[in-house]
Amino acid sequence: FAPWADPASKPFISFKNVTKKFGDFTAVNDLSLNIYHREFFALLGASGCGKSTLLRMLAGFEQPTSGEVILDGTNLAGTPPHRRPVNMMFQSYALFPHMTVEKNIAFGLRQDGMPKDEIIERVMQMLKMVKLEQFASRKPNQLSGGQRQRVALARSLAKRPKVLLLDEPLGALDKKLREETQFELMDLQQNLGLTFVVVTHDQEEAMTMADRIAVMSHGKVIQVATPAEIYEAPNSRFVADFIGDVNIFDGQVASAGAGRVEIAVDSGLTIKVATSDKPAKGSNAGFAIRPEKLKVLRHPPPHSSVNAASGELWDIGYLGDMTVFHVKLKSGKVVKASSLNAQRAVDDPFTYDQEVWISFAEDAGVLLRD
Ligand code: ATP
Repeated sequence: FAPWADPASKPFISFKNVTKKFGDFTAVNDLSLNIYHREFFALLGASGCGKSTLLRMLAGFEQPTSGEVILDGTNLAGTPPHRRPVNMMFQSYALFPHMTVEKNIAFGLRQDGMPKDEIIERVMQMLKMVKLEQFASRKPNQLSGGQRQRVALARSLAKRPKVLLLDEPLGALDKKLREETQFELMDLQQNLGLTFVVVTHDQEEAMTMADRIAVMSHGKVIQVATPAEIYEAPNSRFVADFIGDVNIFDGQVASAGAGRVEIAVDSGLTIKVATSDKPAKGSNAGFAIRPEKLKVLRHPPPHSSVNAASGELWDIGYLGDMTVFHVKLKSGKVVKASSLNAQRAVDDPFTYDQEVWISFAEDAGVLLRD
């Protein structure tokens, strides 16, 4: 499933040069983005980056200041929210407290004037889908947070929208329930064959659930890619830093070409990066590498002046599944390395303050030009 990789496939949802201003403030800035049918798409970014505003323009609660929002070939300008084949589920769930679960789910269908027997059937279907058949006659305050979340989900899906919009859907759940619900949502999305667009500031949530993620900042999309691409090949310092842990080395380009760039880092360290990029000699460049791609060694590697540096083991953190090492390099920079304990040589542990080397491969990290 990768319609975005196929130039022949048509996007289901398109934002075309969309700008949204509130007074002088630009919440969404000339943003273009395609989302495909049956995709589980995540908008990820810090608070205030404009992700909810983007979702609300798709739902019809906000109008773009300029630009177009296209759904299934139709420009949505002028279509009111209730006429759009999208439904939105909010973090607060907004269930009616005085209504039973059943009535909550039926509410929108009644408003639409669906015949009574059809409503009953649809509500049963929805209750079954979210495994709440026995809870049909309870009120929301007689349910757990996870159950309330499932009622809200059932209510949003009852009208069979083509697109479900979820604004921080799992924010109110505790960690364990959140993880369970993530998988339930993914199952449901797959089984129903719907397009889900979820807004979240939680990178783990986005990484777990989404087919693709748009990383946003200040009303712009910085990178759109699969979770693996975002993590392994961040396109910028912002994305490298925003997603997961990272070590960034800064320096100047010493040479570029033949599939490789050499960066001279301040402390005498030279970094060779495998890349087809050819930045100008002398220009500023960075190298981003994830902790698990840094090796910690007891002895200097064979070519110890390139992609390697010595230092002191500053801190060892045992996390159960993995161990995290902080190494203070000769330059004073502290870097983070991690290794899975399942792969550790248990009989030969590292000790604090020990002299060690870090080393990494040319293709273990990415070049940063910004
Ligand atoms: P959060 O995760 O906190 O909800 P977000 O990325 O979803 O953040 P938005 O809700 O899209 O951010 O808001 C983007 C910016 O636009 C914020 O700075 C917000 O204050 C501003 N904003 C949103 N709605 C309005 C409004 N109706 N009037 C004025 N400013 C607004």
